[in-house]
Amino acid sequence: MAVGLVALTGVTVAQTGGGADNSKQVKQEISAKKPKNVIYLLGDGMGDSEITLARYYGKGAKGKLAMDSLPFTGEATTWSLKPGAGPAYKPDYVPDSASAGSAWATGRKTIDERVSQGPSSAVDVPGTNYRTVLEAAQKAGKRTGNVSTAEITDATPAVLDAHISQRGCQGPSDTRKTCPTETKAAGGLGSIAEQSVDHKVDVLLGGGRARFEQPLSATPGADRNVIDSARENGYRYVSDSSGLNGVKNLRGGPVLGLFNASTMTTEYKPLLATAAGSGSPTTQCEDGNRPSSEPALAAMTTKALDLLKSKGTDGKRNNGFFLQVEGASIDKRDHAADPCGQIGETLAFDRATKVALDFQAKHPDTLVVVTADHAHSSQIIPEESKPLGLYSTLQTKDGSPIRVAYGTAAAGSSQQHTGSEVRIAAKGPQATNVLGITDETDTFGTLLGRDR
Ligand code: MG
Ligand code: ZN
Repeated sequence: MAVGLVALTGVTVAQTGGGADNSKQVKQEISAKKPKNVIYLLGDGMGDSEITLARYYGKGAKGKLAMDSLPFTGEATTWSLKPGAGPAYKPDYVPDSASAGSAWATGRKTIDERVSQGPSSAVDVPGTNYRTVLEAAQKAGKRTGNVSTAEITDATPAVLDAHISQRGCQGPSDTRKTCPTETKAAGGLGSIAEQSVDHKVDVLLGGGRARFEQPLSATPGADRNVIDSARENGYRYVSDSSGLNGVKNLRGGPVLGLFNASTMTTEYKPLLATAAGSGSPTTQCEDGNRPSSEPALAAMTTKALDLLKSKGTDGKRNNGFFLQVEGASIDKRDHAADPCGQIGETLAFDRATKVALDFQAKHPDTLVVVTADHAHSSQIIPEESKPLGLYSTLQTKDGSPIRVAYGTAAAGSSQQHTGSEVRIAAKGPQATNVLGITDETDTFGTLLGRDR
């Protein structure tokens, strides 16, 4: 603990530091047991600069996020593959969320756009399907959950419960248009929405209602959609916070919650960076943007954990679970050069992480992993600096200005992912597997839980 204390009102910050020896505490945290439950939390595009920005803004220079409290931290490389003739493929140093997600979901590298399928000569040439960590968990008799603030058919959630050549093939109509050889009519597995339901994931919560409302068949007048097919498969369907609150356990079957037609609404109002610099040393982000009909990520996480540990249709407790929780719009607002949107989503993701850590404290046989899929463009720069790209100035919790710059695309176009390695932190059984420099494909083994 620091000798001096942080002045919360932002007058001064004590400069003295110096931590204690934590060898004993770290030793107590080491466990080689196989975890019963796994909670995998992923901030999309949540590189170290995104984490640092959210911490300084929301907690101050000496503040701590919940995700900063995990006892073991390493860094993971995120590179993907370029399409090619194979069998060897060249590295692509900056992945998209589909290839990066497929890496930890399957333990194998692939090309961008691909959802848990192997590489090939081009994005529209399907690869081989790879087994996912969610499928392995189901095979081991575990329950599964998939929670996201994105469309639940977006790349990060999709890598767990779907196999398709292009991430855009989210609903049946999308798939007929873009992945025609992979529709059910063509003998394929169908769209990501159909595959999620077919996988009988116990808890599916997020946005993307419009994908599930696409008709299953191209025949005019045949208007059955994926929500209909989910209900026929035993799913209970809810579309707002009160509907979700009404679901108390899994005895009535699995749960599909779709809370927005598209991506869920962000916590903070947008404040876009500009070439002339938006914001000011006294500008603070505006909270309260998300309507209460859409549950917060922390609320979805709480509900998912309640359901996954509840008794099932057979009245029995389960054999453990695998749950993924994605803070998706950290990435989406970073693409938009929107520091407020990005910070609000990072802090919301951190509140979901707190929920997972509180669960872990009560259920120590749970492994919690917190990481990102790839780094992103935002950078904290000197407050007097005028960068070549876009920038914005905000007032932090310390009462001090912070300047954030975006320089990976021109104004008006989407800011780009970056290729830096990303934080991976863990607590619980086998948490030490994240230490050092690993690769996202190693995370697959960590999530699977190794027999020792
Ligand atoms: Mg994502
Ligand atoms: Zn992105």
